[in-house]
Amino acid sequence: MNNDVKIQFLGGVEEVGRLAMVLETGDIKLLFEYGMSPGKPPAYPLPAPPVDLILLTHAHLDHSGMIPWLFSQNGQKILTTPLTGEIINLLHKDSIKIAKSEGYASPYSSSDVNEAKKNIIPIEPTQKRKIGHDWEVLFHSAGHIPGSLMFELVGAKKILFTGDFNVVDTRVVKGIKPVDCDILFLEGTYAGRDHPKKREEIEKDLLDKIDEIVKRGGIAILPAFAVSRSQELALVLRNSGYNVWFDGMGKKVSKMFLKHQRYLRSAENLKKALNKINLVHSDQGRKLALKADVIITSSGMMDGGPVLNYMGKLKNDPKSAVLLTGYQVPESNARLLVDKGKLDFYGVKEKIECEVQYYDFSAHAGHGELIEFAKKCNPEKIVLMHSDNREALVEPLKDVAEVYSPKTGEVVEL
Ligand SMILES: [Zn+2]
Ligand SMILES: [Zn+2]
Repeated sequence: MNNDVKIQFLGGVEEVGRLAMVLETGDIKLLFEYGMSPGKPPAYPLPAPPVDLILLTHAHLDHSGMIPWLFSQNGQKILTTPLTGEIINLLHKDSIKIAKSEGYASPYSSSDVNEAKKNIIPIEPTQKRKIGHDWEVLFHSAGHIPGSLMFELVGAKKILFTGDFNVVDTRVVKGIKPVDCDILFLEGTYAGRDHPKKREEIEKDLLDKIDEIVKRGGIAILPAFAVSRSQELALVLRNSGYNVWFDGMGKKVSKMFLKHQRYLRSAENLKKALNKINLVHSDQGRKLALKADVIITSSGMMDGGPVLNYMGKLKNDPKSAVLLTGYQVPESNARLLVDKGKLDFYGVKEKIECEVQYYDFSAHAGHGELIEFAKKCNPEKIVLMHSDNREALVEPLKDVAEVYSPKTGEVVEL
């Protein structure tokens, strides 16, 4: 039996986007994630070869966005949680719609999306499953968003693939602990950047700012990712007493969260939080929302969705403010707003008079947390992935293990 581990990243190693990795060892060949980088146009990973099985950590498009394409080729069974399965179906359908409205070709069809859905094998954290003759895969919660997983392969070696993960508790999910392994595939979204403040302090800063905005007669716009961040903000605002409106795809995702309550830190709290919020269902609702104190709306990076609608109305109002709470990839509209004070409204860049602030509500381990997590996993080898700043992790980790920073397309034997 050949116990070498051969890997090839198809994308997403040197960037926080389009993650995909093929791993081959003994008699198994696996595909971890098959994401895309949303953008205009989106960026895709290299074509995936036929594999035995697809392992998907969580629903975010940079991990899941190209999975339907696999079903236009050589589809395979997908191991993921039932909640992730439901959310990706929604996101995939939406991606086809966005492609249409932006005028570029979708890499997959609606029937590929349906095929992907049919091929999901639902699994749960703490379960395990045999793959090939000599391997088992164990599923661990990743603490990133509800339903997110880390994969541990156990055979001749112990291999841990983190996906995106978080070590601190948030209002939505609980943080996670290290897993002992020989080879660690470590995400590095926040490589080189620490989260200087505690979650409670950040929440307080945000609420104080909203208070200031409301007192001066403005509206606080909270652009937020539909999956998990919008629900987290609803929870933060739960007892604030503000008139809060909620718009965009996050509404549907909230229902899915409540259907799969076991992945939530407190389904009861989320239910209560959503009950206190007004949901926008129509253009009339959108007009009413413009009289609100706070609007939580997608998309998080402001590249589309109802947020641009609201910004179109509020762009000249210096009393209102945009409060960003998520990661802004380079070239996203939210990044343009932070760097240049402008927003791109479907091809037309306009100056924004509103105040703009950023609050570090990350769902990822920060720099120091990544290092501590890696050390406690006690690996012999660490493969750095999913980061635009992997160099920042090489030096602090080189005394811990042998550190690899493979390039996209490069085949590496571990
Ligand atoms: Zn993610
Ligand atoms: Zn990611």
